[in-house]
Amino acid sequence: MKSYRKELWFNIPSRRSFINITPQVVECIRESGVKEGLALVNAMHITASVFINDDESGLHKDYDDWLEELAPHEPVSQYQHNQTGEDNADAHLKRQIMGREVVVAITNGSLDFGPWEQIFYGEFDGRRRKRVLVKIIGE
Ligand code: ZN
Repeated sequence: MKSYRKELWFNIPSRRSFINITPQVVECIRESGVKEGLALVNAMHITASVFINDDESGLHKDYDDWLEELAPHEPVSQYQHNQTGEDNADAHLKRQIMGREVVVAITNGSLDFGPWEQIFYGEFDGRRRKRVLVKIIGE
């Protein structure tokens, strides 16, 4: 069995953003040489997400509006967590609902997606360097 590990780095200039990281994951699969197996992709930070959905800008705006309604960034004083001196309680909550990781089947060297599926990095507390782990196992 082959095993492959890579960290993808991001430094998002804004507080929140969604980025399609499917091309980077496809490149990892190519580098791994795995034709049949599994790819795990996870955020390595508790204020960022990895999830699968449609690459449609209206939907991404809908996510952002929905998450801001559920857990508004401001006022930062509304959160217990921010009493520690941080201002990112909303980012922890947003990450929880959007998820930590995805696992995708690799079939014949390709991501075995359903219709329109793409992999996204969701940043909720950006403006610093953060990582995504890609782990691939298989033959
Ligand atoms: Zn925090």
